[in-house]
Amino acid sequence: MPMSATITFLGGADTVTGSKYLIEHQHHRLLVDCGLFQGYKQLRLRNWAPLPVAPSQIDAVLLTHAHLDHSGYIPLLVHEGFKGRIHATRGTSDLCKILLPDSGHIQEEDAAFANRHGFSRHAPALPLYTKQHALDSLSHLHPQDLHTWFEPIRGWKARFQRAGHILGAASLLLEVAGRRILFSGDLGRPDDALMHPPEAPPQADTVLVESTYGNRQHPAKPCFAELGPLLQKLAKRGGVAVVPVFAVGRAQAVLHAIAQLKAAGELPRGLPIFLDSPMAIHTTALFEKHMGQHRLSLAEVQAMDRVATMLQTPEQSKSLATRHGPMVILAASGMATGGRVLHHLARYAGDHRNMVILTGFQAPGTRGASLAAGQSQIRIHGQEVAVRAEIAQIASASAHADSDQVLSWLQGMPGAPDQVYVVHGEREASDRLRQRIEHDIQWRAVVPEHGATWPL
Ligand SMILES: [Zn+2]
Repeated sequence: MPMSATITFLGGADTVTGSKYLIEHQHHRLLVDCGLFQGYKQLRLRNWAPLPVAPSQIDAVLLTHAHLDHSGYIPLLVHEGFKGRIHATRGTSDLCKILLPDSGHIQEEDAAFANRHGFSRHAPALPLYTKQHALDSLSHLHPQDLHTWFEPIRGWKARFQRAGHILGAASLLLEVAGRRILFSGDLGRPDDALMHPPEAPPQADTVLVESTYGNRQHPAKPCFAELGPLLQKLAKRGGVAVVPVFAVGRAQAVLHAIAQLKAAGELPRGLPIFLDSPMAIHTTALFEKHMGQHRLSLAEVQAMDRVATMLQTPEQSKSLATRHGPMVILAASGMATGGRVLHHLARYAGDHRNMVILTGFQAPGTRGASLAAGQSQIRIHGQEVAVRAEIAQIASASAHADSDQVLSWLQGMPGAPDQVYVVHGEREASDRLRQRIEHDIQWRAVVPEHGATWPL
């Protein structure tokens, strides 16, 4: 009997983070996405547990996009013996060169900080991987053009197509053992201000579809319409807005919206805007390199670039503390799980004149989710920080398709697949999307459990 291929859900099942799908067939294996778990501690601990298969036994990795919950495990995979190629689009490959070393740097800084202040329960606290590990892993990246078949393993075929979402983001069609498996990747919104809409899905036997917003609809408002009134109010009362942003994607969406507001005279031209994230600064520059891969004209990219003062060094970042409001500080990370934004939150969250503006999905267990839930205290670097600032969440800045948009993307497929796996969502969101797929379009859909293996 010919052995069918199998899929094992090593992450991104029952949660939005840690995406890792292991495909096996006749002693060959590849991973689709190689992400970090983020959020709740019991999720983050999974980053430290060994994979059920030795990295040296994995032949190739295929990356749908560069966000760390899809790529951030790569340095560890390579450090622990992975020898193969990591296939990704050119945009994703360029972004990984920025994101992965920074991720290593943050892991080292967090461990060092914990050791200095003695609040780690582990002595000494260790980084999951270092910046050097991340730099060493980059030589495995192997850029691929969109819409072009390649062979990640002899006899297996794969092809990327545009998924919107962020620069370089792709859906992936994989052909193995006579079966076609489509991975949606993170799907952007058809009406995204920065990115083109996701391309219609090709016919496949099996589909893995993301469900970040599987139980929600986005407002029809554009980002600037939601952001404008908030920043006008802030400018009037002289406060400081701290905006946690994903360095890739949301930072640019917010800058673009602010540039539009200033150009339209809806915000004072003199309202100081700071982009305090070297990574986001480099990403903004990539928009100019990858013209055509997004919706912005060169003039719009340049306006986005000019609207903020870019802070590169830690000294420049610290110098913000000597300034008074009004001002707007954009800093990573987007769910306030680490990075420079923590220092700004610790400094400004306690004053009611200030504002924290959340811009994207906040995974449960992150500080961003605590802020969104209205908690009056958050813990930063081992200290309790009182939250008195106004907390706002702008849904229009989301880089993900909502429930209706995912459903209509699926319906673009020429015919029904045999099986849909609903992944990359919290339990409720995934289950709601599963119900809609079964009820509204009558396709077979399941929400796979973490660690489960299914035949393809
Ligand atoms: Zn993403």
